[in-house]
Amino acid sequence: MQRVGCVRPADYARTRNDLGGGATGLSPYLTHGLVTLQEVLSDVLSRDRLTIDHKLVYEFGWREFYRHVWAHRGAGIFQSIHPGPLPDETYSPQLPLDIRQGRTGIPVIDESVRTLYATGTLHNHARMWLASYVVHVRQVHWRAGADWLVSHLLDGDLASNHLSWQWVAGTGSHKPYLFNAENVARFAPLRWHSFGTVIDRSYEELEQMARTARPQPPKGPVEAGRVDSAVEPPLLHSPPADLASAHATIANTDNLLVRGRTVWLVHPWALRPPPADLPDGYVTIGVYPSEYHRDWPWSEARWRWVDAAMAELTPHRWFLDSESLGAALADASRVRTVADPHLPEWQADLEPAPALFPLVERPCASFSQWWSRATRGVEQAESLL
Ligand SMILES: Cc1cc2nc3c(=O)[nH]c(=O)nc-3n(C[C@H](O)[C@H](O)[C@H](O)COP(=O)(O)OP(=O)(O)OC[C@H]3O[C@@H](n4cnc5c(N)ncnc54)[C@H](O)[C@@H]3O)c2cc1C
Repeated sequence: MQRVGCVRPADYARTRNDLGGGATGLSPYLTHGLVTLQEVLSDVLSRDRLTIDHKLVYEFGWREFYRHVWAHRGAGIFQSIHPGPLPDETYSPQLPLDIRQGRTGIPVIDESVRTLYATGTLHNHARMWLASYVVHVRQVHWRAGADWLVSHLLDGDLASNHLSWQWVAGTGSHKPYLFNAENVARFAPLRWHSFGTVIDRSYEELEQMARTARPQPPKGPVEAGRVDSAVEPPLLHSPPADLASAHATIANTDNLLVRGRTVWLVHPWALRPPPADLPDGYVTIGVYPSEYHRDWPWSEARWRWVDAAMAELTPHRWFLDSESLGAALADASRVRTVADPHLPEWQADLEPAPALFPLVERPCASFSQWWSRATRGVEQAESLL
């Protein structure tokens, strides 16, 4: 993939925190399995030599650490892991409209929301600022923000997203993440600068704010109607209607297609070509698990992005629940796929989800604990391959 060839580790380490810096932009491809961390690292190492603690390898580690936490905690990641600066019930359970509509009057927040809606992506630093503002300035529960953000991101991943929100909130880390206008000015372009707004304060003041419950946390100049609103893209629990009709098989199943054959299932988290060891006559079928989509809607842009990638792999794309899938595949000789924690239980032979770091069996409470176990005795990144 062209984008992988453009990764420049030295630039990355120097500028990854800048909004215009050397971030790779690979996360939608990684989330949806078009490329794996192993493949990215192997490509990078064909051009550069990296030690294990290089910033790029370290950030890859965060992705796998969050998977590790999800594997051990399961649905527990959707609740606060431990108390944050204030009790859970202090925070509002709903994301206010002025944030959803990008009209808080605070440039860094409104620009983040607009960028998110326009592109389906957001720089890591902007995600941190947005989450910190939502939780610590507006005192909205991290879960409300996390559920909203994950639906609009092309790379929306339940572990990376919800656990990052917990990291910012201080319910999954030892302190809340706070930022101020000066910090934004160091890393973002001019139109994002937010001097003279509620975040133009010292860190001591922000800390005090985060730790004091307020009945009406501060808003920007929204109510005065001074800021244009961004239109939030609708969120869909099933594929857009024209996608379903353009690909007639998306909602149907066809027993004749699979009778006596090995079926290779592709799904939204494993959009890659089938393995080489499939027998002659195998058939590839794409499946959208309706149980997942019932709980976690996507923007139309994400449906189209994922479906375009799935269509490269198979013309057969089904949107259905596990029971219907089992019935539709009952006559197949064998069903294989790649495991992923986003999937419901499927009757299929599961191949392990790709991983870069060795499996850490013992649950780790912190990234540093996980990192020291996952990289024990390793000095060069190439040892991971
Ligand atoms: C509030 C919040 C929500 C987030 N939600 C998601 C999400 O839904 N999906 C998602 O993939 N990432 C999420 N992240 C992590 C991170 O912001 C994105 O992975 C990163 O911005 C993707 O852009 P990139 O590929 O250019 O990253 P790069 O900086 O180029 O990093 C390369 C890869 O390393 C991994 N990575 C880098 N930083 C992190 C990190 N902090 N945590 C986990 N993995 C990381 C990603 O796989 C990324 O693609 C979230 C972070 C925050 C603060």
